[in-house]
Amino acid sequence: MNRIYLDNAATTAVSPEVLEAMLPYFTQVYGNASSIHSTGRDARRAVEAARKQVAAAINAQPNEIYFTAGGSESDNWAIKGVAFAHKDKGNHIITSAIEHHAVLHTCQWLEKHGFEVTYLPVDEFGRVSVEDVEKAITDKTILITIMAANNEIGTLQPVEEIGRLAREKKILFHTDAVQAVGAVEVDVQKMNADLLSMSAHKFHGPKGVGALYIRRGVKIDTYLTGGAQERSKRAGTENLPGIVGMGKAIELATTDLAEKAARMTALRDKLISGILEAIPDVRLNGHPTLRLPNNCNVSVRYIEGEALLLRLDLAGIAGSSGSACTSGSLDPSHVLLAIGLPHEIAHGSLRLSLGNDTTDADVDYVLDTLPGIVKQLRDMSALNVFTSTLGGNCPLMKDSH
Ligand SMILES: *Cc1c(COP(=O)(O)O)cnc(C)c1O
Repeated sequence: MNRIYLDNAATTAVSPEVLEAMLPYFTQVYGNASSIHSTGRDARRAVEAARKQVAAAINAQPNEIYFTAGGSESDNWAIKGVAFAHKDKGNHIITSAIEHHAVLHTCQWLEKHGFEVTYLPVDEFGRVSVEDVEKAITDKTILITIMAANNEIGTLQPVEEIGRLAREKKILFHTDAVQAVGAVEVDVQKMNADLLSMSAHKFHGPKGVGALYIRRGVKIDTYLTGGAQERSKRAGTENLPGIVGMGKAIELATTDLAEKAARMTALRDKLISGILEAIPDVRLNGHPTLRLPNNCNVSVRYIEGEALLLRLDLAGIAGSSGSACTSGSLDPSHVLLAIGLPHEIAHGSLRLSLGNDTTDADVDYVLDTLPGIVKQLRDMSALNVFTSTLGGNCPLMKDSH
């Protein structure tokens, strides 16, 4: 069966050029980048070349790029590292209610260690208001951390304005740009970002490698202590093949970005309008235009997102949902609740995220397949009764227990 992968917001396939660039660094140039011998020096050269590629992609200097083990580590380091390095100045952090858990759970952890966090609400489209950020600032505020683009509903935040405000108020600004890099223009100068998180596996690079941009002069504590790697700021032998892959992937992802984004946006809009036209009682989640070019997120009333995902999978389509039944929790996504969706509607949500290899024919297939599946599920009136009377309880969980 033809399989269509529309879960690129969760992770992407490593592109063939990236894999090819990585391969020599497993078995031929396998030296430790800290070693003096020639294999070590070759490894060092490869790491520094990748650092230049990452820096160039976001308009930074190479010595402002620190390699990490991914987006989660970059977020943890940025937030905890700034919090502890500036705690003599203040203990207040501003973030939003719809951040990735790598940011939210890090802020919650800091609350247990003497810090105070403001979680700003968002509007019905998932946008943070710049005025709300300004009103939340106190003389104790040391960090504002607002994501560039949301991973569930794709909404883009006004990061340039927030960055400008932070700069004016002399407060550090971090942005989780994990979904934005390779999808929309990311320029740390335009954004006035002091710190910015990236992850290779979200732009057709390998998993387990990412980077944190730290503007020159920004005071931040070391997060992973040990050896002197990454200019003594992040210990651990460099993930050489991963770093090489990340460099190649970010270069490819940001080359001809405007044309690629335009192609993706056209496919996205065809998918969204096709779904809204073919299926009654469906709503689009996120902003209609200020959204990631590859993100389609809809709530389909009267059905369970999980049931829909399983049926789509049987039809060869891989998507994801904002409901957390399978993870053992009955709580729907914090993002969907924050934009004001009632539980039962949040439970019927479906995210389809396109990738480099998504074609027009793939979108046609989804539009041919999805309406029939939704109709079948809705016709199963027992499920209907379950979801409407139990307020979005998960019938699937009952079956599996
Ligand atoms: C995927 C993702 C992360 C986590 O990145 P990992 O590399 O998987 O740790 C953080 N933030 C956002 C917005 C993401 O989409």
